[in-house]
Amino acid sequence: MNLRSLPDRKPFLTATLALVTLAALAAAAISAEPRAKDLFGARKLPAVEPAQSFGFYSKGCFTGGVALPMDGPTWEVMRPSRNRRWGHPAMIALIEKLSRDAVADGWPGLLIGDVSQPRGGPMMTGHASHQIGLDADIWLTPMPKRPLTMAQRENMSATLMVDEKTHLVKDALWTPQHTRLLKRAASYPEVERILVNPGIKKKLCDTVTGDRSWLRKIRPFWGHDYHFHMRIGCQPGSPFCKAQETTPDDDGCGKPLAWWFTEEPWRPNKNPDAPKARDLMTMANLPKQCQDVLGAPDAPSLEAVIYHGGGAAAVAVAEPQPTEPAETISSGNAALPAAASAFAPTPSIGIPLPRPRPGN
Ligand SMILES: [Zn+2]
Repeated sequence: MNLRSLPDRKPFLTATLALVTLAALAAAAISAEPRAKDLFGARKLPAVEPAQSFGFYSKGCFTGGVALPMDGPTWEVMRPSRNRRWGHPAMIALIEKLSRDAVADGWPGLLIGDVSQPRGGPMMTGHASHQIGLDADIWLTPMPKRPLTMAQRENMSATLMVDEKTHLVKDALWTPQHTRLLKRAASYPEVERILVNPGIKKKLCDTVTGDRSWLRKIRPFWGHDYHFHMRIGCQPGSPFCKAQETTPDDDGCGKPLAWWFTEEPWRPNKNPDAPKARDLMTMANLPKQCQDVLGAPDAPSLEAVIYHGGGAAAVAVAEPQPTEPAETISSGNAALPAAASAFAPTPSIGIPLPRPRPGN
């Protein structure tokens, strides 16, 4: 082919420019894709539908949320301005039950931290999980005798139970009542895991006598040094809820715990400014049903969706549906950037060799 037979260069350049512009526009459209955390964070009320969780604890949403009342005889909601006292009715009912049982056990009452946003989904701050209404943070500080004002609930600082250097529980602060509270929470069949700081797990491993079977549910994790995190399993009526792996059938006090007392888990993050999964997720990363959950009409009022122990809201769960959950969840999820690896609930343990515990 002779060069001279090529068409005039101008149209060629114009076409090239047009293509480049299109590509730039497409890139802009992708980066302008709204973040799921902004969309879910903006919803102030739940979607009034039967209660149903979609997806996984760290990648999902839910309908039929109800709010834990701000106060009960045996609990108080902390940090009320965050509007994270929402959960699946089974979760909210269980929090109330734990608060009553704990008081019967001698604990003065529960201070309740974050549960979920009204429709779940990723949050603006904190937490990789808490997205499907089945996770709740409960403070390890007992409820004070005098009712807390709203300002105190916003500002009162929590008690750190663990020494940040040794990662061991501060013995002056830990009481048998703390152990009893965790044992009570672990006793409920619907509770699958309780996340605590490794120092707290170690304290339990070192001190619990008699029945130790419940220690299986107590799982060490970063943070969780002023609160524990109670997680229940997927509830009936949620065929698209993705279950977590079952915990190993032992007390978890051996090698897996020893790893936490090596340097490895505490090495400074090499890339502290890298965005977290929740900061990157778009609707394409969530189960496809979450788009409907987001768009569903609001509950008529806040009062209509506050949980009042066993009312209609508590029993409304979705009819069983034909299930193909695993497929639906994975096909609805676009890949996240490699940096966003916040999904693994616990690092795989066993590869690192235990080393002497610092400060010992
Ligand atoms: Zn939590």
